[in-house]
Amino acid sequence: MKNYWMAVSAAAMFVCFSCNTGNGKGATTGQTEEKTVIKAPDFNADSAYQYVKAQVDFGPRVPNTAEHVACGNYLAKKLEEYGAKVTNQYADLTAYDGKILKARNIIGAYKPDLKKRVALFAHWDTRPWADKDKDEANHHTPILGANDGASGVGVLLEIARQINLQEPTIGIDIIFFDAEDGGTPDFYEGRHEETSWCLGSQYWSRIPHVQGYNARFGILLDMVGGKGATFYREAASMKYAKSIVNKVWKKAKEIGYETYFINENGGGVTDDHVFVNQIARIPTIDIVPMDEDYSFFPHWHTTGDTMDVIDKSTLKAVGQTVMEVIYNEK
Ligand SMILES: [Zn+2]
Repeated sequence: MKNYWMAVSAAAMFVCFSCNTGNGKGATTGQTEEKTVIKAPDFNADSAYQYVKAQVDFGPRVPNTAEHVACGNYLAKKLEEYGAKVTNQYADLTAYDGKILKARNIIGAYKPDLKKRVALFAHWDTRPWADKDKDEANHHTPILGANDGASGVGVLLEIARQINLQEPTIGIDIIFFDAEDGGTPDFYEGRHEETSWCLGSQYWSRIPHVQGYNARFGILLDMVGGKGATFYREAASMKYAKSIVNKVWKKAKEIGYETYFINENGGGVTDDHVFVNQIARIPTIDIVPMDEDYSFFPHWHTTGDTMDVIDKSTLKAVGQTVMEVIYNEK
């Protein structure tokens, strides 16, 4: 993924935000509605951490490599083990340089016949080049992607394990997108297209694993394991799915994670949710870290994105928040 709208967003989003404060929708009718809040099962961060590590142990998960195939098999097997109906969506996708990538989106469905559904997304491939590395000699080295790739998938595998023990009311789809992070590298001197990123999600958004697939909303997790991560209200999420951002950030605050989920607008990110919103038209948000200046975590797209950057407290904050949201959907 890639960040954009750097300086523009603060001003632009502020204007939008202030326009909407007059919305009378939330006005009280004088009646106090009793709302039962369901307590979700306890998200186990140790377990999530192990799923992150298991992926990293395969090595970089770059399409067209043996490590990628092996990790894909592992992920599909885990989802099956946790009771999901698994669909493997294989596709030949074209990278920025014309190379064909043997890609595989992996989908685990719970209660697949239910119409009321929520989709949870993460990308499982890793960037083929550490093109943000301080050392130029590493710019062509594939990254391990402990945070960028494995963390979101690790959190979702733990959620799958929990769903298998106690299912929420609604149907859940856990969707691991492939070929997200092969966007045009910095060292390439030709044209840089936004659409060179997120190939797996673009494909799935056009051709979902189930014909006519729809979900109430989607939540994308990307780089959700970094120490001291802060998640601002990402701009594209605000544009397409503001009510879902509100729902998730409110829930995070309720359960004590407001130091992670900052209730302020941040910059925008070209990530899988953009294409899910634009092509599949499922309102989808991105939980993605950024700093006050909208930059990502310091090891982003470098050889430093290893297990050392993964913090269980962050996995817990994100995993528990997402679970409280889905277990309270009716
Ligand atoms: Zn990335």
